[in-house]
Amino acid sequence: KVKESGKNDCMMYSESWSNSSFERLTLQHEMYRAIQRCEFILHYQPQYDLVSGMMVGVEALVRWRHPVKGMIAPGEFIPIAEESGMIIQIGDWVLEEACRQNKAWQDAGLPPMPVSVNLSIRQFVQQDLSSKVASVLEKTGLKPEYLDLEITESMTMDTGHVSRCLLELTDMGVGISVDDFGTGYSSFHYLKNFPIDRLKIDRSFVRDIQQDPSDAEIVAAIIAMAHNLNIQVIAEGVENEEQMEFLRKHRCDEMQGYFWSPPVSSAAIEQMLGAAFIQ
Ligand code: C2E
Ligand code: MG
Ligand code: MG
Ligand code: MG
Repeated sequence: KVKESGKNDCMMYSESWSNSSFERLTLQHEMYRAIQRCEFILHYQPQYDLVSGMMVGVEALVRWRHPVKGMIAPGEFIPIAEESGMIIQIGDWVLEEACRQNKAWQDAGLPPMPVSVNLSIRQFVQQDLSSKVASVLEKTGLKPEYLDLEITESMTMDTGHVSRCLLELTDMGVGISVDDFGTGYSSFHYLKNFPIDRLKIDRSFVRDIQQDPSDAEIVAAIIAMAHNLNIQVIAEGVENEEQMEFLRKHRCDEMQGYFWSPPVSSAAIEQMLGAAFIQ
């Protein structure tokens, strides 16, 4: 077991020999087989236009249906997958599955809308991401305008490489969103140097919009600045009507959050879209 986990064996020494480091090694080992065993699954969280109230997109969020431990949230295994390099294989699977699913929905006659896929920095560094995306789009038959890629602000390792890669993707017609906007240290650097279509205001700012006047100011300022730069804005983590009204008043474009829907199965999305289609 230890041998298969390769160079990350050093985790055993760098961390205390606790249950949790043992747990990490076990998960890491099990992850290798999880793809072949089809244990990963995508859930989708709807994104809504704040003016029309229509569903205008979905974000694909990976889950691991572990045979013993049950459903594992991405927060628990994505960091381990990033450390071990497995994020490449998982990321490839997520990208292809999200594109395949979106094309299947379109083929079934549901109203077409983009699917957002979360990317890890490793996917930029370790592979030719734009060729990968191009081949997945070709294989699945999904048009590039129906794919949106979410990048986070920690992805600044090799700015030259990342920005070249993003330019190739935007030239193809794929959308680029900055996820968790405002939590990194290089937000403005991103907007200035990368071809960004949309930013997603992190839910930590949305959460206290009503109680914390500085959060309210920050959110209003992000929206205004983004619009001046011709960048669309979506708010994450909208949980109640007051937050939604605030965002609407400040002309935020879209919202995503438990208030309208948590991430749900593909079957549940089909029901929602089917209902929208009939009306
Ligand atoms: P994220 O991309 O910022 O995704 C939003 C997270 O916030 C999701 O958690 C979602 O369930 C949660 N969320 C949505 N609305 C609300 C709300 O109103 N209130 C609260 N409290 N939470 C809300 P989830 O699915 O557990 O994903 C967590 C993170 O894991 C994601 O954050 C993303 O960074 C990462 N992740 C998920 N899927 C993938 C993937 O396929 N690849 C990579 N690289 N990362 C992924
Ligand atoms: Mg995201
Ligand atoms: Mg986010
Ligand atoms: Mg977030």
